[in-house]
Amino acid sequence: MTTVRTRIAPSPTGDPHVGTAYIALFNLCFARQHGGQFILRIEDTDQLRSTRESEQQIYDALRWLGIEWDEGPDVGGPHGPYRQSERGEIYKRYSDELVEKGHAFPCFCSAERLNQVRAEQQARKETPRYDGHCMHLAPDEAQRRVAAGEPHVIRMKVPSEGICTVPDMLRGDVEIPWDRMDMQVLMKADGLPTYFLANVVDDHLMGITHVLRGEEWLPSAPKLIKLYEYFGWEQPALCYMPLLRNPDKSKLSKRKNPTSVTFYERMGFLPQAMLNYLGRMGWSMPDEREKFTLNEMIEQFDIQRVSLGGPIFDMEKLSWLNGQWLRELPVEQFAVEVQKWALNPEYLMKIAPHVQGRVETFSQIAPLAGFFFSGALPLEPSLFAHKKLDDAQVRQVLQLTLWKLEALRQWEKERITGCIQAVAEYLELKLRDVMPLMFAAIAGQTSSVSVLDAMEILGPDLTRYRLRMALELLGGASKKEAKEWERQLASMGNQGVR
Ligand code: GLU
Repeated sequence: MTTVRTRIAPSPTGDPHVGTAYIALFNLCFARQHGGQFILRIEDTDQLRSTRESEQQIYDALRWLGIEWDEGPDVGGPHGPYRQSERGEIYKRYSDELVEKGHAFPCFCSAERLNQVRAEQQARKETPRYDGHCMHLAPDEAQRRVAAGEPHVIRMKVPSEGICTVPDMLRGDVEIPWDRMDMQVLMKADGLPTYFLANVVDDHLMGITHVLRGEEWLPSAPKLIKLYEYFGWEQPALCYMPLLRNPDKSKLSKRKNPTSVTFYERMGFLPQAMLNYLGRMGWSMPDEREKFTLNEMIEQFDIQRVSLGGPIFDMEKLSWLNGQWLRELPVEQFAVEVQKWALNPEYLMKIAPHVQGRVETFSQIAPLAGFFFSGALPLEPSLFAHKKLDDAQVRQVLQLTLWKLEALRQWEKERITGCIQAVAEYLELKLRDVMPLMFAAIAGQTSSVSVLDAMEILGPDLTRYRLRMALELLGGASKKEAKEWERQLASMGNQGVR
């Protein structure tokens, strides 16, 4: 019997998402339940958006939660490399194979031509898709143009009619008409593979037997299935997991709910409780109990008990469950966990240089710097009363700063300052006019240690969260304002950001 092998294949393009941890947990449980292996592969073929920092954050977030993998870029294994950016040669070989077999073809169409075709199709109310123009080129002509170095992509052929049956472990057979599928680009003009090719090739070469991924991938499943068929490979079992949702049922998004695992770590959630909560997303123990450990989940795991109704990720429920966990800890352990959270030497060392010169006794530290050890702050609207700015301008400053900081990739004091400065300059204000608002939102008081240092130390998650809380307290942005401010954000460009 073949060993069960599952994987997650996150793209390192942002904060480590709770959705990644959720899918990882279910893949891990499935593999362990069958005595199999769980692999971590980094899908970093999007060179512009992928970063090593984000990759590291994925490892840290999963490890914090207690999720371990058997093979991966950082732990090695017999099927490496596990980072797609290091597997370029492999994809090229398989893409060539598809072209040779006539399942894929080079496409030389310019962006202008593709745009025009799309516009015409839309005008005729058709689904926009590639019109097959280059598919009809004689193979030797296509070869000649490739050899001459003409820019091109490689597209896969797809049937133009009929139905593709996707066998989903949760839904049974799902039927998707072929006419909804585009002739997917497999290799981009820069010679890098797209998700479709790289994902299929790697899942095959890495011996993956079961693919549990988010249901947002279900509509594109036919293309993957076709690729397995073209290569003559056995297709792994497919399982499309329900997507996590905000309490209002919309797809979990950071505009409405913090989605970064690190946010929950900084807020003082216990990793075991967080993992337990993720295990409750669409799944339940046979006895319906709420609180369980990872090992208990593995012991009782049955993928068929995943329910398809969109599981709601709700911070209040998570807090309730976390409370259960905290109260049941032996008190010594509780104290140890608190230390680990924020009373550890490393965190204290970041704060110490900023408080040392401002206190006469240690007992003054808590009133001065307690906000370093808090999540949301008890804020009063009066804190944001401003001599020069009216209510709407105050909200505008907070919103624009929040958006700027959401786009900031490297969380460093200078760059944070750059963002705030860019907003101030755009609104023709001085930095000192906007700083009191930052103090109020971040520290919950009108003065404290340097707020820019505080933002750096608190990190992106808590800083953004507090700005959002402040904005919400003051009434948020009306639809009209949000539109106007988004336009302003766009016209500010990338100033300060990066
Ligand atoms: N790289 C894809 C992602 O980031 C992987 C999806 C899959 O599991 O196939 O979600």
